[in-house]
Amino acid sequence: MNDNILENIRFHGDLTYPVASGLQVSGRACRFGDIRITQELPSSPSIAPSEIPVSGLPGVGSRRAQVLHAAGLHTAEDLLFYYPRRYLDRSTLVTIRELSLHAGETVTVMGSVGSVHTVPGRRKRLVVTLRDDGGSMELVFFQGISYWQNAFTTGQPVAVSGEVQFYGRKPSMVHPDIDRLQEGDTLEFINTGGIIPVYPSNAELEKVGLNRHGGFRRLMHQVLARYLGGVTDWYADDFLADHDLLPLRAALEAIHRPADTAVLDRARRRLIFDEFFILSLQLALRRRKQGAALPGIAFRGESPTARRLVAQLPFALTDAQRRVLREIVGDMREEHPMNRLLQGDVGSGKTVVALLAMLLAVDDGHQCALMVPTEILAEQHFRTITSLVDDLSLSIELLTGQQTAGAKSARLAAVANGDVDIVVGTHALIQESVQFSKLGLVVIDEQHRFGVAQRADLRSKGTAPDVLVMTATPIPRTLSMTLYGDLDVSVIDELPANRKRVRTAIRFDEDRDSVYAFVRDEISAGNQAYVVFPLVSESEKLDLKAATEEYETLRGAVFPDLRLGLLHGQMKADEKDAVMQRFKRREIDILVSTTVIEVGVDIPDATVMLIEHAERFGLAQLHQLRGRVGRSDKQAYCILMTTKRMYFAGGGKSTDDRRQVSDLRRRLDTMRDSTDGFHIAEVDMQIRGPGDLWGTQQSGYPAFRIANLLEHEHILVEARDAAFTIIDDDPQLRRAAHRGIREQLGPRIRAQLRMADIS
Ligand code: ADP
Ligand code: MG
Repeated sequence: MNDNILENIRFHGDLTYPVASGLQVSGRACRFGDIRITQELPSSPSIAPSEIPVSGLPGVGSRRAQVLHAAGLHTAEDLLFYYPRRYLDRSTLVTIRELSLHAGETVTVMGSVGSVHTVPGRRKRLVVTLRDDGGSMELVFFQGISYWQNAFTTGQPVAVSGEVQFYGRKPSMVHPDIDRLQEGDTLEFINTGGIIPVYPSNAELEKVGLNRHGGFRRLMHQVLARYLGGVTDWYADDFLADHDLLPLRAALEAIHRPADTAVLDRARRRLIFDEFFILSLQLALRRRKQGAALPGIAFRGESPTARRLVAQLPFALTDAQRRVLREIVGDMREEHPMNRLLQGDVGSGKTVVALLAMLLAVDDGHQCALMVPTEILAEQHFRTITSLVDDLSLSIELLTGQQTAGAKSARLAAVANGDVDIVVGTHALIQESVQFSKLGLVVIDEQHRFGVAQRADLRSKGTAPDVLVMTATPIPRTLSMTLYGDLDVSVIDELPANRKRVRTAIRFDEDRDSVYAFVRDEISAGNQAYVVFPLVSESEKLDLKAATEEYETLRGAVFPDLRLGLLHGQMKADEKDAVMQRFKRREIDILVSTTVIEVGVDIPDATVMLIEHAERFGLAQLHQLRGRVGRSDKQAYCILMTTKRMYFAGGGKSTDDRRQVSDLRRRLDTMRDSTDGFHIAEVDMQIRGPGDLWGTQQSGYPAFRIANLLEHEHILVEARDAAFTIIDDDPQLRRAAHRGIREQLGPRIRAQLRMADIS
């Protein structure tokens, strides 16, 4: 090795490595074994990275700028918050002689380039020899030969990282990562010699050279070198110390150029904390706003009507129902408006709890609104409530989108002048034409089908009314903290005592005869069955055709002697209602349906849920559908129909099919093996990721970059507590210690809230 260029630096005590003399070691902290070479970054602390457009960065021309914009990266700040997807450990630096000890491992070697030549053959390749004091090795390139041929000059010092291979006695690396260490240049270890970031990229970014290999790293290196100094923390020092958080600048540096895995872990913790903190701050502010808006209604918390109803019920309330009712009544007594989520698994008996709460409001002279996602459910609730309170001289009305204008206007007038006590309806309830005279309590059933905005719309029909939202969708605690973090939560964690666990089986097409025989037996025993078809095509018309044809087949060929009914989303509301009523009155034995019955439907005598093409449903849907049976003391069954081809091969032979099969089987097996909604929800979150859980239509759902609800629950809890404490203490963020939060996180949150309002 050429000693004019290289001077020896000692590593590991007695091991020496050559490093180019006169070279500045700059940029990243690089670590070889125990030795660290670090140098402060040259940066411009006065400039905020948010003020630097990407087009102003070195190496970014108009094409790159365009592609970066398309990826949502507009400023240097956006790039600083664009985190690596993963890391390559290139921190093991060895001499060429030592390579024999590292066969098959990925290591880094520094040396100087010897010969560069191509080797013809079946696969033409370029071979570059690399030497250091103790030996030589080969770098082999199969692709981009002409590029690499020009990239090396004899005598040039380089660092290379790659997997060590041996063909004979000569060590080699195929397509290693390379850093050229030029004399007079800055010694930049971007691709070797440490823990190397790999940035998420896409086809467009790759096209302009911002690839997963060196391209993105090089750009990021520039951004860090120039603009990291302009980053200011939003937390005060005390806050950082209290929560054991790295300062923002250090965290950003370490996430992009970790000196070691320990600091990388600390950086991750800080940035994950921030994501949860920003979200929690938003929830804390929303909650504050709801609470502080106006004095709400302090109900007496006494209702003779509710007492009479409890006495008349054909069952005793469960302990869990009593407990959540106490929590709800406690809130309703307070002047502060209630914002409570009532969570209880399918069949746990939420409706009666909501009804009792409504009676409390009605007895105090207020109106109540109960909003549900489907017309079938609106009809059902309307009928249930009417039948439960029919001798109680209350006025209950139904409002849905499909009612005729005439029928509607009379009802709307009655609601507006206060003649109606309880209004049950669909989205129609939030239309402008609906006015209440004295709305005191808003109940939203199956909340996960609505967005935050619709909740707010219904609330705004009254003056600070109490709000109770209900969901049967069990969601993991972490997700509930993010989706419903602004609500108080009550949980019904117990089913009525008479319930038996629904038995679930997976059956294949070839088992049809025995499955149908089983359904027939159940019906002979006086029970009823659902047969559900998924939406199978893009076109509703085709789906309808499929469901209708199946219905005809079942009716004509399979169960000609039984009474079948058909229900689907294209039917008019009164037709749907008529079918449901006939099913309820047991004039129909088997209800063939699309997923319109998915949520809320309550027919206690139905004991069989037969789900066709079960592989097409998500876990949440399957759990909801199964929840339509097992709602009385009768033993109920859920049969998941699929095909062997689906279940065992994911429907085909390609790699994608195989990848799918494990998820698909896991879904069906989970349903077969568990009836625990929370367990099913956890599995669903693992399969689908938290972002797309439970068909949630919540607008403003947080998209985390680095945080993960499954893995970082403890950080979420800490960030949430911190955010709520700050807002409780200093709601306007006026204190000096909170100025950074107000000035820097404030705009981010406002931007997020704006997005939530739009969607
Ligand atoms: P969900 O929580 O899924 O909305 P529902 O309120 O529809 O459940 O109740 C399911 C069924 O259980 C209904 O038929 C209801 O009348 C019945 N039910 C509710 N509470 C009890 C109870 N404490 N004991 C027995 N049956 C109950
Ligand atoms: Mg319900």
